[in-house]
Amino acid sequence: MGPEVTELEEELGRFVGVEHVVGCSSGTDALLLPLMAHGIGPGDAVFTTPFTFIATAEVVALLGATPVFVDIDAHTFNMDPNALAQALDRVLERGALRPRGVIPVDLFGIPADYDPICAIAGEHRLFVLEDAAQSFGAAYKGRRTGSLGDVAATSFFPAKPLGAYGDGGAVFTNDERLAETMRSLRVHGHTSDRYNHARVGLNARLDTLQAAILLAKLSLFEDELSARKRVATRYTERLRDTTVTPSVPDDVDAAWGQYSILSERRDEIRSALTRAGIPFAIYYPVPLHLQSVFVHLGHNVGDFPVCERIASNIISLPMHPYLEDAQIDSVCDTVNRAVCT
Ligand SMILES: *Cc1c(COP(=O)(O)O)cnc(C)c1O
Repeated sequence: MGPEVTELEEELGRFVGVEHVVGCSSGTDALLLPLMAHGIGPGDAVFTTPFTFIATAEVVALLGATPVFVDIDAHTFNMDPNALAQALDRVLERGALRPRGVIPVDLFGIPADYDPICAIAGEHRLFVLEDAAQSFGAAYKGRRTGSLGDVAATSFFPAKPLGAYGDGGAVFTNDERLAETMRSLRVHGHTSDRYNHARVGLNARLDTLQAAILLAKLSLFEDELSARKRVATRYTERLRDTTVTPSVPDDVDAAWGQYSILSERRDEIRSALTRAGIPFAIYYPVPLHLQSVFVHLGHNVGDFPVCERIASNIISLPMHPYLEDAQIDSVCDTVNRAVCT
């Protein structure tokens, strides 16, 4: 918690356009802190998508609350606002859980559709916690991710758009009281009296060394965002006739955390990339509702059909700001040959 941490928090706040930033040890803790500050616990329902990294739903379960999954939009792979309204109605009808919050995820760097999601959440007095772990630097209707819900979490894990040299994260909000509670929770629930603790907290400090690295990288970040966009544009030009390339809504500026395509011939693409020595990843092969850790929620195959279909056809290609045209073309040639033969 050296001076670089405060300096970074101020710069991140200016970049995103929010008043309070709480730097912390990871994206996972950045999701956990606002849930703890909101007093989330047993009997509470928190709505999120089954097509995300485990951490998004894990933090809900860790606090004893229940993640309620909502299917995704077939084009953006983000939470479908209509499905959210339906899931909320079902929870209210059954009456066993108290709806408290929504965690939309800006998957692969494309922001979720916050206007309808926040409208639904507002009607039911639910908080919206934006999982911006993959979307730092993106924008929705001219506003940066990190400012789109009531509170937002991002990650500085090296593979994210703004990566440190190890773990790190940050929480963003305009709610001063929430920020103060999260600052306390970040260091064991401390108060201004250092040895009197007000609440059960965490050791979720952001390391000063990572903060110093992030300050340096932040000064290059706008250029890196443009470079990622250039890579994505070149991929799309060369792959759109042979695969389903990402659809970015008109009012959105993507951060290109990942570049992911859909193909019925994913197995062929995988083998071809492996043979060519080109790295790739499958985000995510098993939707959260079908993972062992959540069997007690009682879900079956077919519960979230859009998510399940996308999970079986998706593959992510190499994506970083320093990919050269020849490298991009070689990836595309390999994919195109695999799809067309
Ligand atoms: C990476 C990631 C997280 C967790 O971030 P860590 O820094 O690895 O703890 C949470 N949500 C999503 C969507 C992520 O991609």
